[in-house]
Amino acid sequence: MLIQVALPVPLYRVFDYLVPEIWQTAELFPKIGSRVLVSFGRQKLVGIVVNHIETSEISQNKLKEIVEILDNQAILDDNLLKLAHWLSHYYHYPLGDVFAVMLPTLIRQGKAFEQPQDFWRVLRKADDNDFSKSAKQQKQQFSLIELYNEFNLFNNQHEILESQLLAQGVKKSYLQKFAEKGLIEHFSAIVSEQPPKPVTLKQDNLLLNDEQNIAIQQIFQAIDEKKYQGFLLNGITGSGKTEVYLQAMQPVLQNNQQVLILVPEIGLTPQTEQRFSERFSANVLMLHSGLTDTVRLNGWQACRTGQAQIIIGTRSSIFYPFANLGLIIIDESHDQSYKQQDTLRYHASDVALYRGMTAKIPVILGTATPSLESLHLVNQQKLKELTLTKRAGNANTAPIQLIDARQQKWQHGLAENLINAMRQTLEKDEQVLVFLNRRGYAPILLCDACGWQADCPRCDAHLTVHLSPVPVLKCHHCDWQSFMPKTCPDCGSTNLDPVGMGTARLTESLAEIFADVPIIQIDRDTTKRKDSWQKIYQQISANPKAILVGTQMVAKGHHFPNVTLVAMPNADRGFLSADFRSPEHTAQLIIQVAGRAGRAEKSGRVLIQTLQPENPALLTLVRHGYLALARQLLAERQLLGLPPFTYACLVRVEGRFLEKNHQFLTDAKQLLPNQATLTSLGLAVSGIVDAPMTKKNSRYHSQLLILGRNRQALHQLLNDWWQMALNLPSAKYLKITLDIDPSGWA
Ligand code: ADP
Ligand code: ZN
Ligand code: ZN
Repeated sequence: MLIQVALPVPLYRVFDYLVPEIWQTAELFPKIGSRVLVSFGRQKLVGIVVNHIETSEISQNKLKEIVEILDNQAILDDNLLKLAHWLSHYYHYPLGDVFAVMLPTLIRQGKAFEQPQDFWRVLRKADDNDFSKSAKQQKQQFSLIELYNEFNLFNNQHEILESQLLAQGVKKSYLQKFAEKGLIEHFSAIVSEQPPKPVTLKQDNLLLNDEQNIAIQQIFQAIDEKKYQGFLLNGITGSGKTEVYLQAMQPVLQNNQQVLILVPEIGLTPQTEQRFSERFSANVLMLHSGLTDTVRLNGWQACRTGQAQIIIGTRSSIFYPFANLGLIIIDESHDQSYKQQDTLRYHASDVALYRGMTAKIPVILGTATPSLESLHLVNQQKLKELTLTKRAGNANTAPIQLIDARQQKWQHGLAENLINAMRQTLEKDEQVLVFLNRRGYAPILLCDACGWQADCPRCDAHLTVHLSPVPVLKCHHCDWQSFMPKTCPDCGSTNLDPVGMGTARLTESLAEIFADVPIIQIDRDTTKRKDSWQKIYQQISANPKAILVGTQMVAKGHHFPNVTLVAMPNADRGFLSADFRSPEHTAQLIIQVAGRAGRAEKSGRVLIQTLQPENPALLTLVRHGYLALARQLLAERQLLGLPPFTYACLVRVEGRFLEKNHQFLTDAKQLLPNQATLTSLGLAVSGIVDAPMTKKNSRYHSQLLILGRNRQALHQLLNDWWQMALNLPSAKYLKITLDIDPSGWA
């Protein structure tokens, strides 16, 4: 018997290997879904066994034996293997590379997946003599006794994971103190695969309103019937979607199944975790991009063994192994961070729906601004729509109004009416959120004398002016930085002017207009540090009267209870962009930011300052709401033959010379069937074009778009054509990727 192994090499095939005589027993033979070490060329690579075969097409004497068996059991179950094959087919990505994206680094490197973990063991009961008696230490002594009691009571066990204790708020220095007293001792061991404690409810469920009730009954039905069902939970901001998630999770968790909750990339995770761990006593696992490799591996293992009961994670958590997954929830499912923008360009919602289907479990996509794709799936009856139209509790939806900035006096880029509205809000001791989706001081540095503008030497982009902590010019597309020039490099003039407004400049201007009001800037520059969000929240709650200035970062799930006015200068610019998804994304962003207004008892309002008050998309959004605009945009897409009514594949080419990109795309195009055949298959191929930002980080980007009316026909074409294209001599030295269901192309 031989095995087929998927290796992390960019080749669209698997590799046959021999298994030495000594491992040719039923017990030792490498299992499908386990890792083996093999030699490949001059390297040694870790691969995944994907098949057992009787014979190979390669002659016996050319085959190599595997070097080592790394796992004596499968580490990937059937469902996960099926998922890997599906990803490889659907995204036209090599199977071995798919595994490289799916698996944690240490697993890919061949490390043992059962890493020992830190434990503490109770040695004896504590008594008063174990604690210091000096008056000075009275207070500390008390808390030590309390902690020790908790330690003993915790799970009524004698051995406890250190991470669990730390999560309870026990300080590591205390543990060391206990150890010095001989109360406890440290040891490390591999976590046993004992099932965790059953989940219980810590806090009562809220009494659901009618709409929430209808939604939860439908979800319960799918859970009861143990079948796949996709739901679109379409509920305005504050309508109680999270409460529906929580109640949907309860029967699943109490049936000893796991729940996976996907959340967008940034900011959201700590707040989200709190709501789930307040409701349930359960092992909650957080998976985000900031974890170390070891912590990630332990998390992976906790999912695999079923130790983790509630898993909250960003995009890539959808690839984790689960002992017993019962429900997938995708919060803010419209969010663009669910689409990966390099290597395997998957969309986490699509992967989640596929996983739900194979695992026969419900999947809930929750959002206030559903993507056109998900609305289309509802129309096709592939998703069941559940709607929440009213805010839960006492809060009202904030009305959105336009401010026609053409007929107004201006001050620092803000219309007079907008400033007056801000002043009125502040006078009531309420807060204002000003949304400006551009960080830094100013987007352009211009020479007044000759018109020179500071551009990135590596990208087709202007450099952004940043004044603090030191004045520099920065590229927001690569990591280029330079000091602020004192004179124009072209004409020598000293009249260099920052043009346009970023969050830092807006913060400065607002401080001039509203002298005594604290202005809190919230963007990537001010939230870099680990504790910055905490500080920002403290500052916000300490100042009932304050102005928050934020980028799209504030759109995501944050709760600012005292914000009653949301002001958006120029938020509507995106309605003019050339990209076909831009109106959809702009509308989503506006509604998400607007949702920050009046979330608590006080009612709120939203003002959009615009220079194009008769823009039809903007008017529909303001007068009739997001769904009305979404339906209108969907009808336009159908008329124009754009996704989701057609299926798209973008061929992306990246290289050091533009001509070489063009050469490859020309050659590749020639390998396509002729026009008549393409047309008969319902396929259309664009001309060769350069990407909107052609030069980025010193590399040139070009592309070719293929649209198909029928998904099968498109994928069939790609199956036949893509291999040939990659083997073209002109493909050499280029980075070429297929982007299936791209998020845009203009
Ligand atoms: P969403 O996730 O849709 O933005 P949340 O679930 O955060 O909304 O709910 C908004 C607020 O309303 C929260 O404070 C929540 O506790 C409260 N809430 C939700 N459902 C109910 C309900 N049925 N009765 C009373 N309050 C509710
Ligand atoms: Zn000049
Ligand atoms: Zn750059």
